[in-house]
Formats: sequence, C-alpha cells, structure tokens
Amino acid sequence: RCGFVAIVGRPNVGKSTLLNHILGQKLSITSRKPQTTRHQVLGIKTDGPVQAIYVDTPGMHEDEPRALNRYMNKAASSALIDVDVVVFVVDQMAWTTADELVLDKLSRLKCPVILAVNKVDKIDNRDALLPHLDMLSKKRDFAEIIPLSALRETNLEPLEQAVGRYL
Ligand code: GDP
Ligand code: MG
Repeated sequence: RCGFVAIVGRPNVGKSTLLNHILGQKLSITSRKPQTTRHQVLGIKTDGPVQAIYVDTPGMHEDEPRALNRYMNKAASSALIDVDVVVFVVDQMAWTTADELVLDKLSRLKCPVILAVNKVDKIDNRDALLPHLDMLSKKRDFAEIIPLSALRETNLEPLEQAVGRYL
C-alpha cells in the first residue's frame, strides 16, 4: 500500500521537527507559489509493505490563509490531488484560535485526520493531559488521537502505524 500524507498545523507546533524525525533527514516545509497545484514530495518512508509519501500541500499550513482557502476551494470542487490522510499537529495544552482556524479549514476535507498532540515531554502533570485530550476529541471526529514528542521521538511509531492504516 502507498499513499499521500499531509502534515498540517499552525506555526511552531513542531511539524518540521516531526517530519525530520519520521524521515530521518533534515528538511523544511517551504511555502509554494500560489499557482502551484502539485504536491511537493518531502520524503517517502517505507515500512514493510507500506509506503507513506509525505507531501507539502500548497496552502495547507501556516502563514498562508489565502493559499489555504484556494486549496480548500479546489478540494471542494474535487480538482484536488488526493491526500489519503492528514496529520493535524497541535501543541499539548495550548489550543489557540490559530488551531481553530486550521481545524475549520479541515472541516471540508473528507479524508481521515489524525490528531498528533505534540510536545508531551513538556508536561509535568500527566493528570492534566487526559482532560485536555478529551476536550480535543470533541473538536472533530478524529481518526485517531496520538500524544507524542517529536523532539524526543516518543510515540512516533504509533503515529506512523496509524498513518499506515489509512493509506
Ligand atoms: P513548525 O513551525 O510547526 O514546523 O515547528 P518546528 O518543528 O519548527 O518546531 C517549533 C519549536 O518547537 C522548535 O523550537 C522545536 O524544537 C520545538 N519542538 C518541536 N517538537 C517538540 C517536542 O516534541 N517537544 C519540545 N519540547 N519541543 C518541540
Ligand atoms: Mg516548519
């Protein structure tokens, strides 16, 4: 099986760190020219029979609200190149209006969205995490919710397995 994976989220939640650690190489999500419609392949991760193609989806991340709108309009008119699964990255304990905006844009996407709750290494009170995850779980019918630390490489395996289930 193989398919396309988009990593989205507001700035500073750890998208680049996550990608770097999943792919084991240094890369960055670069912004695209507005008229560019194809995905840029950032890297391919092969795990047995499963190949995940990580792509930078124009407008599907940070700093580009207008590009995001363009992208979603395309998605709505089905001119979209398929993304099989979206990984929506958020920062543990910090849900902001910028996250809400990304979530709002994702509401029109039909593909499964996996919520990656990053930076759990910063949590000292573990008891606080559960109610927070509970709050997040009500924001959308997420395919899966996975707390992780991109920096410490904690729980990246369950994330990649979850991604693999939707390819
Ligand atoms: P992006 O803007 O979403 O691509 O976020 P970056 O990957 O550039 O990360 C933003 C900041 O968060 C950087 O200083 C990272 O080192 C830090 N960061 C990313 N992941 C983690 C994590 O799992 N734990 C901690 N403590 N910091 C992280
Ligand atoms: Mg980045």
